[in-house]
Order: sequence, then structure tokens, then C-alpha cells
Amino acid sequence: MTGYSELAGELRRRNVRSIALQFPEGMKRKAREIALFLRKEGFSVIVSADPCYGACDLASDALRLVDALVHFGHTPLGDPDPKVIFEPVSVDFDPGVLKGAVHHFRKSTIGLVTTAQHVHLLPAMVRVLADSGIGAVTRPGSRGCSEGQILGCAFEAARIPSVEEILYVGTGIFHPLGVRLATGKRVIALDPLTGTAREVDEDRFLRKRFALIEKARSADAFGFIVSSKTGQNRLSLAREMASGCPNAVILLMREVDPGELLNLGFPAYVNFACPRLAYDDQPRFPAPVLTPQEFRILTGETDFSSYTIDEMQ
Ligand code: SF4
Repeated sequence: MTGYSELAGELRRRNVRSIALQFPEGMKRKAREIALFLRKEGFSVIVSADPCYGACDLASDALRLVDALVHFGHTPLGDPDPKVIFEPVSVDFDPGVLKGAVHHFRKSTIGLVTTAQHVHLLPAMVRVLADSGIGAVTRPGSRGCSEGQILGCAFEAARIPSVEEILYVGTGIFHPLGVRLATGKRVIALDPLTGTAREVDEDRFLRKRFALIEKARSADAFGFIVSSKTGQNRLSLAREMASGCPNAVILLMREVDPGELLNLGFPAYVNFACPRLAYDDQPRFPAPVLTPQEFRILTGETDFSSYTIDEMQ
């Protein structure tokens, strides 16, 4: 669906009269324009104005008040409520930009992964690589991801046994780092908007995580952070791990906020909510926030040499 008129048509086809709209942070400025357009089309509209970072965080409170929820910016996770309409955002670029990454590869067959915004260009990317003498292999992702698509909490599409090198096409440094840690393969990250390609090096990241685990060793109590968001619930895992740790307390939270962690006052936390919180937001937190895998390293259950990235099922 590309235009708002098409969205209005789809809503009419579904006999929907009242709707809630939900936007990721980067799209919230569009809320006013889209809401006013749909109001003029005759719909009763509510905008969910809470923070939203993924399809794992559907506005279920708002959905209870309306006939349908339109969730912008993300592809569905798993098997979503049929009352939710997903409006992912596609970001175009010239697939010819991939030619600039070809000289980084040592093999003639590689794996290829990208994010939801660019996944519509995957066939064109495969063709450009083939024209440059590189065979690209893709595989389906997990958590509802399509062929070749990864999320910041799901790297299954990168687990391609037949390749030793992987090309990640997308922006940011976290996703290619995740691919590297999830697969152990050589990863080249290409930013398709700037054309910059570089090999991923995880050393600095691992050094920081090691230091954090060491800092958490002196903690005499651990807050196990469990999210109440629709697609981030890992309560069973938290309960299972807490059963072996008498000084762990499960904390149910909607937004994992540094101020709340400060108020709670635990000397260390383990994050069972969105895995990216522990990685990206650590500088904002008042105490070490480990992943479940890092907590297992701390307790001696596993070893740092087999460090794995945190993923959701
Ligand atoms: Fe994105 Fe985190 Fe949600 Fe996964 S859990 S979809 S990384 S916001």
C-alpha cells in the first residue's frame, strides 16, 4: 500500500469505521497529516502517542477502543492479530551501489541480508552481484521476517551454512555486528545511502561487554527486567533463570527507563525485553544491564569465548 487513499480503501473493504494509528519514533511527525486525511475520509481516528520501536510493541490499549490498528513502519512479527494492518516503509536506493562492495569479498559466493526497509530490492541486489561475478545466497528469516531480512533481535536469515562471507546492506552498526556475532562469518556492511562498505570488527564491542560482566560480578542482587510489550515477553525464560538465582527479582516494565532503574536501585540488571536495550542504551543506565547470555557467563554456566548475541524467538 503506497498512498493514504489506498489505506482508506483497505479500511472500507474491511468495514472499519474507527481506527488507531501507531508510528515508530522516526515517523511520528507524519501522524498529524495522516490522521487528518483519514478523518476527512470519514473515519474516527485515535493516534497512539506512546513510544514505539518495533512491531513487537503493538498498541494493544488503543486497539481495544477501535475496529482496527494501523501500525506504520514495520513488518509483522509472527502471527499478529487480524485487526492489525501493517504499513511497512520501503526505502529505495540504486542497487548498482552494491558494485562498490564487491572487491571486499574473497569468495565468489556470499550470503546476503538486509533490513525491512530495503528487502523489496533484494532480487535487484542479487542481479547486480551476479553481473559482478558474485553469487548471492539468501534464506528466510525468523520472527515473521521475509527472505533475506534480519531484525535487531533476529538474525536467522544470516545463518547460511554454505557461505563464509556475508554482505549486510543497510544503515547503522548494530545489525551487521549482530550478523557477525550470530554467525561467526566474515561480514561486510554496506550503507546503501552513502555507498560506504567496511568489514565488521567486533573487538571493541566485546571488550566493553566483558568489562560490564566483570563490573556486575560484585552485585548482591539482580533486577530481571521483563517487558509487558506484546512481542517482547520472555517471562518464562526470566522465571527459569531466576529459579537458579536466589538474589534475582523479576521486574515487569513497559518502558525500560534509566530513571526507573535508578529508583529501583539494583546494583545490576538482566534484560529480557528488547535485546537492543542492553546493547544500545547501556551508557544511559545507572548500573550494568546484561543480556541473559551474559548473565550465564557471569554465573559460570557458559564461557566468554562462546559469546552469543541476544535474540528473540
Ligand atoms: Fe526491534 Fe527490539 Fe522489537 Fe526486536 S524486540 S523488533 S529489535 S524493537
